[in-house]
Amino acid sequence: MRKQLLVAMVQAIKQKLLKRLALLRGRTNNSAKRVMFLMVILMLTVGSVGVYAHLESFTYVVYLDGEEKGYVSSDTEFLAFVAELAAQAEERYALQVRAVQEVRVEREQRRDAEPNDWAVRDQVRQALIYDVYAYVITVNGKDTLAVRRYEDYEKVIGELKAAYASGKENAVIRAIVIDDNVGARKTLVDPAALYTVDRAAEVLRRGTDRREVYLVSRGDSLWTIARQNNMTVDEIQEANPQLASSERIKPGEEISLVVAEPLVDVSVTQEVALQKQIPFATRYQNDSKLFRGNTRVVQPGQVGIKEVTVSITQTNGNEVLREVIDEVVIREPLDQIVARGTAAVPPQVGTGRFLWPVSGGRISSPFGQRGRSFHAGVDIAAAHGTAILAADSGVVTAAGWNGGFGIMIAIDHGNGTSTLYAHNSSNLVSVGQRVQRGQQIARIGSTGNSTGPHVHFEVHRNGSQVNPLQFF
Ligand SMILES: [Zn+2]
Repeated sequence: MRKQLLVAMVQAIKQKLLKRLALLRGRTNNSAKRVMFLMVILMLTVGSVGVYAHLESFTYVVYLDGEEKGYVSSDTEFLAFVAELAAQAEERYALQVRAVQEVRVEREQRRDAEPNDWAVRDQVRQALIYDVYAYVITVNGKDTLAVRRYEDYEKVIGELKAAYASGKENAVIRAIVIDDNVGARKTLVDPAALYTVDRAAEVLRRGTDRREVYLVSRGDSLWTIARQNNMTVDEIQEANPQLASSERIKPGEEISLVVAEPLVDVSVTQEVALQKQIPFATRYQNDSKLFRGNTRVVQPGQVGIKEVTVSITQTNGNEVLREVIDEVVIREPLDQIVARGTAAVPPQVGTGRFLWPVSGGRISSPFGQRGRSFHAGVDIAAAHGTAILAADSGVVTAAGWNGGFGIMIAIDHGNGTSTLYAHNSSNLVSVGQRVQRGQQIARIGSTGNSTGPHVHFEVHRNGSQVNPLQFF
């Protein structure tokens, strides 16, 4: 602007003088005169500029991003003021700054140009904003967020790793690796967009620094918490990887309600020593005193113990790999020894041919009508304590006191027939036991509704009492 005006001015004067020169040329052509004329032209040119400068005053115009802000009395003083503002900003941010707007001062010719330094400075001070030179953290080449210094970036990386470094019990951390390509680039940043180390680490780790926690109270379950917060149980678990191992939650525990979406994946590999049980083996020994199919523990087994060293890799707290790297047996297991019966099993189904249930004895009362009542069995009288034998093989279905029968036994022979032995002094078998034909099952007595030692012997065929004597 200034230069253009000057050039225009000088041109105008030159043209006037050239006109005069043309007039003079007509009258003279000697070279001395020519030199004199050129000198006159030169003098007039300089003089004109001086006169012009006196008539129209010059001033310093301040521009902010090309927009005129007013006049100042000195360009150097004003630019020093602008430099001072920048220095103050650098002090305020403790970072190198660069003004967002461009400040320019031009010497220009203006009419009635009264400089107003104070007002212009104030306006510029109010308007100027600064960006700072800071470090933007890049993840796989993409800008994420910015921190003030390179060492802050290094601290962010440290915190990011430390966040996952809390190891398990008996664990040794072998490696913490950031899986993504993370770096920092110095660039101009709006200072309002700068992150502290802690927040930057949190945002990289969780994708957000939003925190929303739920305080567990008595009676809460993951399901009720999920429902109250419009989430799924899966989402709750995703937001709380620490819950993955145990679903139980304790009152007072904090449950995060924000599902993390990490910007940076961090993998931690740790070695964990775990105590594990070694199961014991079972060995069998034949035993001729046991029925076939029956077993008896001769020596109880004991589990062994081994220490297993496992390498566990977790990415963002979720287990991705588990490998056994070492195993040391601390205690060998002890085999369990079991006796296995080889003895022939008494048949469950009777022969159908009965054995007299008492050795000796005499029938003291037969089957059938007895006065007004019906005698449903035969009474066999014998001395107190005489052996009562199973009339046929079968399974004991009743053994014990039963009203007027006193101490009694019932045996199911499995072919629609069962037998009953009553008034015993004592029983030798119990319910569920298999008995063989002729095996002693009780002793003669006089318990219940009885007048002397005898066995009341009944035979039931398909549910009804029949005369026992037809089976012998
Ligand atoms: Zn009887």
